Amino acid sequence: MAAAGRLVLATGNRGKAREISTLLAPQWEVLLQTDLGVQPVAETGSSFVENALLKARHAAAATGLPALADDSGLEVDALDGAPGVHSARYAGEGASDAQNLQRLLDALRDVPAGGRTARFRCVLAWVRTADDPQPLLAEGSWEGRIALAPRGSGGFGYDPVFEDARSGLTAAELAPGQKNSLSHRGQALALLRRLLLSRTGHDLTRS
Ligand code: IMP
Repeated sequence: MAAAGRLVLATGNRGKAREISTLLAPQWEVLLQTDLGVQPVAETGSSFVENALLKARHAAAATGLPALADDSGLEVDALDGAPGVHSARYAGEGASDAQNLQRLLDALRDVPAGGRTARFRCVLAWVRTADDPQPLLAEGSWEGRIALAPRGSGGFGYDPVFEDARSGLTAAELAPGQKNSLSHRGQALALLRRLLLSRTGHDLTRS
């Protein structure tokens, strides 16, 4: 099938990029901003929406291509919604996934299983140009709990400690296709696809 077009994905996070590219192929040729030499922009927004828009506009400005950005994170009820927009740097600037995950388990050390409810949230922003006056925004969320200890080897980030509310499996125990069908990112992409279809008739992802 011929590609509908090229877009730049405004992320340097390989885990996100893998999931999004899988869902967009083969209709869209997805280029990673990192591979195009685009430096990441500072995520100074106070919400997922602000940061997603900031990243999409920055990538479109730097490349002249339509841009898609994902801002996402984990909200833990017992921590009043933290780490939220700070999920990528919860254990400090430049922290690894393993360090962030360990800080989360430490913060919840005294919280019993019943009090460990949480959700992943994702906002996708799509712009045609850097100053696009009508960006498309799509949001998804995935309810679950923080496990007492990491389990599973798939995914990225907090996946080994995020238990899907229904199955009790961690996101890292799910096959990639299963994770995409449940996840905050999979839901946001499905919604974005509908928005884009109704605006342009262009299909964003495979059905
Ligand atoms: P940002 O959107 O680049 O600010 O980073 C989001 C951070 O949230 C990631 O670095 C991960 O730590 C976490 N995160 C977002 N989505 C997922 C996911 O699907 N699985 C695991 N961690 C995630």
